[in-house]
Amino acid sequence: MPRDGTGPAPVIPNPIQIKYYGNSSAPACYAPDMDSETRFLPRTDADQLLERLRVSGFPRILGPVARDGSLVFSPIHQWSQLPAGIRDMQTPGTYRLHRHADPLCFAWANGPQALKPLTFAGRELLWRAERHHETAAPVFEHAEDTPEPTAVLGIRACDLAALALQEKHFTHGRFPDPFFGRRRRSLFLIAVHCSHPASTCFCASTGDGPTVTRGHDLVLAELDEGYLISAGSRGGRRLLKDMALPPATAAQVQWAERASARATAAQMRHLPGRHLKQPIHDRLEARHWSRVGERCLSCGNCTAVCPTCFCHMELDEPALSGHRTEHLRQWSSCFNAEHSYMGHFLVRSDTRLRYRQWLTHKLAGWHEQYGRSGCVGCGRCITWCPVGIDITAEVAALLAEEIHAQPS
Ligand code: SF4
Ligand code: SF4
Repeated sequence: MPRDGTGPAPVIPNPIQIKYYGNSSAPACYAPDMDSETRFLPRTDADQLLERLRVSGFPRILGPVARDGSLVFSPIHQWSQLPAGIRDMQTPGTYRLHRHADPLCFAWANGPQALKPLTFAGRELLWRAERHHETAAPVFEHAEDTPEPTAVLGIRACDLAALALQEKHFTHGRFPDPFFGRRRRSLFLIAVHCSHPASTCFCASTGDGPTVTRGHDLVLAELDEGYLISAGSRGGRRLLKDMALPPATAAQVQWAERASARATAAQMRHLPGRHLKQPIHDRLEARHWSRVGERCLSCGNCTAVCPTCFCHMELDEPALSGHRTEHLRQWSSCFNAEHSYMGHFLVRSDTRLRYRQWLTHKLAGWHEQYGRSGCVGCGRCITWCPVGIDITAEVAALLAEEIHAQPS
């Protein structure tokens, strides 16, 4: 809804309807909409979807845009701003875009960021305190952001799974995070089935992709001539009904299913299982931690691009006048030395220990906290690691090592 409260009510999925599954290998997410029909949106008419989003109360639409050599979610106003013909080439430590002579707008795997910055800001004000004159008591004020209703187009299955994990972290328990909650409720999510995984992708082995099955409001499958479109939420169903599109043909649906099967088969990397807690905990003293610690730069790139990492720090920025201070939250990383500073010493004083912390938390500790691994197989930590450290290769090397007796 516009900030002045006028205009139609936005079609926002109700977060209370989040459904969690008992199966620890399945991500928590919105229940898939099994009843929705698949419709066909011709490519020449694709701007109709953007227009329908705007009249449904989403003046801000973000989509993937090729900028500064990568694909980033940016405001779009027309379908022609999407990256038609763009492909990505990702290998450990490398990300490149190149152009093909075709009209496909979603024939790439992912960019450096998923949805995380839209719900968990990289740096934000939590509260401020101000003293209006020397003898007055300070007045405390909460930061109250009002996120603009936003439709996000082009989300992948792995990123929806990551969002579901972040929801578990931020919005459940005794102290749900109001900043995350407000932003999450402002989003309308239009996913696209992945048809061109990168060499670094392994979401099929984590059970999170490449086909979108849950967590979306709408989902598209891209064909040469246009898009198959179906709904995954009440809001998505309403919007699709308003568009009055023709049903997809059986041949189009089969074509999209084959594209999804090809995308699954194309993934060459994998994790050796979805329940690695015990084998990893059995190897806390493995020699391999030192080998990877020698290569790791402790730069934290992997945690910055990881769509599930949520570590942060809080800091105060007092004004020089001494009358005002702001309390901020900012992304942090278990690779930062000070992140483990406790009682005048660093718990994780070297890179070997920091990498071990990251990997054991991601693939083992998350099972205890959130009922599943913290990795959705997006491959970003592999692509954006400056020295090409590959989580799938490191886990394979670790598990190949014999079990060491743990120190008592
Ligand atoms: S650990 Fe790596 S592959 Fe797994 S979700 Fe995070 S960035 Fe993606
Ligand atoms: S694994 Fe790679 S990206 Fe992560 S901290 Fe080490 S060098 Fe940086």
